[in-house]
Amino acid sequence: MEELSQLIIDYVKSQGACAVGIATLKTLKGGPPSADLTYVLPEAKSAVSFALPLDQSHIPPFLMKKDFLSHERDNVLKNAQSSGIALQLSDFLAQKGYPSFPLAANLKYRTDTPRGIRDLLPDISLRYLAVRSGVGHFGLSGNVITRNEGAAIILGAIVTAAELVPTEPLPPEDNYCDGCKLCMASCPSGLMDPEKETRIELGGEEFTYSKRRGYVRCEYVCGGFAGLHSSGKWSTWSPARFPIPKEEDEFKAVFRTAAKAYWKRPQTEGGFYHPLMKTRIRQTCGSCQIVCHPDKEERNARHKMLTQSGVVVQNPDGSLKAVSPEIASEKIANMNLELRALYEEVLP
Ligand code: SF4
Ligand code: SF4
Repeated sequence: MEELSQLIIDYVKSQGACAVGIATLKTLKGGPPSADLTYVLPEAKSAVSFALPLDQSHIPPFLMKKDFLSHERDNVLKNAQSSGIALQLSDFLAQKGYPSFPLAANLKYRTDTPRGIRDLLPDISLRYLAVRSGVGHFGLSGNVITRNEGAAIILGAIVTAAELVPTEPLPPEDNYCDGCKLCMASCPSGLMDPEKETRIELGGEEFTYSKRRGYVRCEYVCGGFAGLHSSGKWSTWSPARFPIPKEEDEFKAVFRTAAKAYWKRPQTEGGFYHPLMKTRIRQTCGSCQIVCHPDKEERNARHKMLTQSGVVVQNPDGSLKAVSPEIASEKIANMNLELRALYEEVLP
């Protein structure tokens, strides 16, 4: 198993992974339900976790709201690459006599929860596998962060019946997260609670990160249904400015209105399909991930790129452009009611 474990690590690295680790039933013992490998494979013994690096060169232009498509395309394709590696590796192991299950990098949710896929609960948490097997640390954001790429990674994994040799978590003292909270300052949705933390135990090791409020917040903002920060001074790549509620139970109502407007707005290039949506959606944010660079100066610079590059508006041909907050407000105010309703709440 030592030999097979090494071979698998080499296999995944040769496919472009920047970090690989192995977790087992033992090293995940006592974890939350989404750390239960047998959920996808009853005879599971281990999981192989890996990270693919996002292309750093596309991140500053994305944050500065100069180039949306390059980073979004990189993100979508890296997710596909991650799922593809998982499929190939699980076929490889199955043909060696070890039944295996490839985990999708994203967009695959449990159907047996109270609200089904609307609960957005993955089969297995790729983050838990990654931190327990030493692929990365938890940042305060709850994202997995790595020494060289920061949080700008796409995770992947397989679950297998092979009894592989586990790898250890990274030493806590090597975690570059200094609690700067720029992840939270870059998030219009308020997903991360600045005051409360989540504590989990995996195989006798404890991990903490900021408590996440309802995932609907990130779905609402990152999916592009709203994007204006509460300061009114900057936005994500979304041209919409529907309200972002303070309370979780207020999201249902605003989401409905914002989604109807979303479907009527001119379509733009790019995007991807989500099982809960009838049109392509665009990943208009991701800032908590791509701001969090290991180098503190770069991290500060990225936060400024995001917050000093203005507010995105949509032109009649569907194209998106960042303008000053004042010009954006003026543009919206000059629209007729029907057009305005595509971008903000219009009260009767
Ligand atoms: S942005 Fe700062 S606080 Fe947030 S995860 Fe990164 S280093 Fe930690
Ligand atoms: S992706 Fe955007 S909306 Fe979602 S948690 Fe990160 S910063 Fe917030």
